[in-house]
Amino acid sequence: ALRGHTGWKPAWREPEPKAEYDIVIVGGGGHGLATAHYLARVHGITNVAVVEKGWIGGGNVGRNTTIVRSNYLLPGNTPFYEHSMKLWEELEQDLNYNAMVSQRGVVNLFHSDGQRDAYARRGNAMRLHGVDAELLDVPELKRILPMLDFDNARFPIKGALRQRRGGTVRHDAVAWGYARAADGRGVDIIQNCEVTGFRIEAGRILGVETTRGFIGAKKVGLACAGNSSRVAAMAGLRLPIESHALQAFVSEGIKPFIDTVCTFGAGHFYISQSDKGGLVFGGDIDGYNSYAQRGNLPTIEDVAEGGMALMPAIGRVKLLRHWGGIMDMSMDGSPIIDRTPVAGLYLNAGWCYGGFKATPASGWCFAHLLATDAPHEVAAAYRLDRFATGRLIDEKGVGAQPN
Ligand code: FAD
Repeated sequence: ALRGHTGWKPAWREPEPKAEYDIVIVGGGGHGLATAHYLARVHGITNVAVVEKGWIGGGNVGRNTTIVRSNYLLPGNTPFYEHSMKLWEELEQDLNYNAMVSQRGVVNLFHSDGQRDAYARRGNAMRLHGVDAELLDVPELKRILPMLDFDNARFPIKGALRQRRGGTVRHDAVAWGYARAADGRGVDIIQNCEVTGFRIEAGRILGVETTRGFIGAKKVGLACAGNSSRVAAMAGLRLPIESHALQAFVSEGIKPFIDTVCTFGAGHFYISQSDKGGLVFGGDIDGYNSYAQRGNLPTIEDVAEGGMALMPAIGRVKLLRHWGGIMDMSMDGSPIIDRTPVAGLYLNAGWCYGGFKATPASGWCFAHLLATDAPHEVAAAYRLDRFATGRLIDEKGVGAQPN
């Protein structure tokens, strides 16, 4: 900074696109960059380009509320998200990059006896899969979250399910860390390059049309969260996805207030505190379909009400800023990592509002699929055809709540 921000060595190159690559990944978000990193590191495939229409970190990877956890219920989901959690735990060593991985715990509150049963069942399912989970009673909750309204709450707090290994990770550092690591192994990261179409002949992909010309590719992987339906439509595919805005909020910085992640079980509200002191919180998606990366006032009011119902102490804290990102909501709340009917075209999509925590495993499994043409065992359930066969992984509203 003393040199006026000049003379810095860029963390990754700005290469011109080559005429052809072995693999082109569309979308330089967390999932696309992680895929490129694991293609290079695990599979030794480095003739790879990540093509991004904007800038690295400008999409959802830089817009989310940074929560990571693996507290899922269903067999198709739990091993995948636990694989992701283990990769988070070794991420900084792997990338040699400080991503501020903070295992401060995730506490999901319950407010009725029926909800206690459901959370106990989820915790038991997690433990059967080797994932840490514990049920907290009210005295323990009062100790760790004294600011909750235990006395006059509209929905009395009866306890919580906690995953201690869950927590937060600095989201844009994840994008930058993966980008730097992939670039260091020879991957080309091409920013300001929008994919505008696909060249397909006799049912096989030949490459992508972009705003910087045609780029040939033996294989193309789509990782364009928030725009998956629009991009896939250019290849003639109609996806079982609809897109909604999700908003996030940060307050002014305050002294240490909450040292874990906490989610409201009777409304849409969840909260943590950043290292700068801001309260980071969010709630429900905006109700209608949209590709505009901004939300609306009624949802802000709904989220604020949720917060006030849970912890009235935050009522006088000022909101500093808020923003929106576009969520590709799959119809069962679970993602898709699969081949498509076009030979050589692969799909990574449908992350709903919970894809940040999945970033490492998504990249790991998509790289495996692209490199070997076979699904990775922990992502084998994420098939595109499950919406036709009915083999859904219907975990929406249970494990896949916003965050
Ligand atoms: P992105 O970063 O959006 O990457 C996709 C990229 O594709 C974008 O950069 C986009 O520009 C690019 N692209 C699109 N079209 C084209 C094209 N035609 N050509 C080239 N490039 C293209 N998840 C959690 O697990 N925990 C949370 O706490 C959490 N909170 C959230 C809060 C908010 C407000 C939001 C918006 C999301 C939240 N999520 C959370 C969800 C999570 O952020 C996403 O599921 C995840 O980031 C999506 O994957 P990505 O990082 O690859 O997406």
